Amino acid sequence: METFGGIEAGGTWFVCVVGDSERSILAEARFPTTTPEETLGRVVAFFREQNRVLPRPISALGVACFGPLELAPGSPRFGCITTTPKPGWAHTPIVRTLQEALDVPVTLDTDVNAAAIAEGTWGAAAGLDNFIYLTIGTGIGGGGVFNGQPLHGLVHPEMGHIRVPHDWQRDPYPGACPYHGDCFEGLAAGPALRGRWGIAGESLPSDHPAWALEAHYIAQGLHGLICTLSPTRLILGGGVMQQAQLFPLIRAETVRLLNGYVSSPSILEGIDQYIVPPGLGHRSGVMGALALARRRS
Ligand code: ADP
Ligand code: ZN
Repeated sequence: METFGGIEAGGTWFVCVVGDSERSILAEARFPTTTPEETLGRVVAFFREQNRVLPRPISALGVACFGPLELAPGSPRFGCITTTPKPGWAHTPIVRTLQEALDVPVTLDTDVNAAAIAEGTWGAAAGLDNFIYLTIGTGIGGGGVFNGQPLHGLVHPEMGHIRVPHDWQRDPYPGACPYHGDCFEGLAAGPALRGRWGIAGESLPSDHPAWALEAHYIAQGLHGLICTLSPTRLILGGGVMQQAQLFPLIRAETVRLLNGYVSSPSILEGIDQYIVPPGLGHRSGVMGALALARRRS
């Protein structure tokens, strides 16, 4: 049986799994994100031990990583975490370190691209070639899969930092993005809910006016993404989207803002299947890491 390794490399935890191509998890461990040396040392020790007990060693490793990352294949810094403010992690050559220590091919992508690939392999976008996964949590991040491939580019998309119109009269909150203030993430990620209303999203009642405004901003973000990339489905995950009442509000507001211009039955008649929750829930990151490895082999 062929097995693969996956690492969901997050700012708080590194989650490591060994799985097979049918997505069965054979082993799992999580290590707190401390220094690169300590954290990657524990990750390497985990996979070495797995290689020892498995009938045959893992054949590839996928890493779904917090960014920003250098993903341009020709770059001398290919496979590195680049300018993160996370202490000690800037310019960490994560691909080279793992490749040398474990002697397997390593595929790195952003956590959101990996989550999108997992959703396209096993989840809410199974069988689709063109779709977007957006997470709305501590920040807003988007992963796009187009023609079956994750979107990269100059760096990689930063869909959370697009600009959305901000009506200062309706919403005097200045926004929480340290770079842009009232960009999409600055207005609509979890910290903006807390900043604007003084109460964290998870503690706001489901009939609070916060949700109509939140849906308005999310729909504006989706409007921009739909018009730019023309995804055939939009998957919305992350902590804030645990508020299930947001889905109907976002769908209705997106249709309203598009105003009939994008004349596809998916939007005009099938919006409930067009804007959807993830099929893999909070597991899409780690399953994405596994899916990255599986695609490589
Ligand atoms: P992260 O983005 O850090 O990976 P999450 O996706 O869980 O983690 O997002 C955390 C953010 O989402 C926090 O700002 C938190 O207040 C908010 N959040 C978490 N759960 C809920 C919820 N049930 N309803 C609304 N907001 C939530
Ligand atoms: Zn921003």
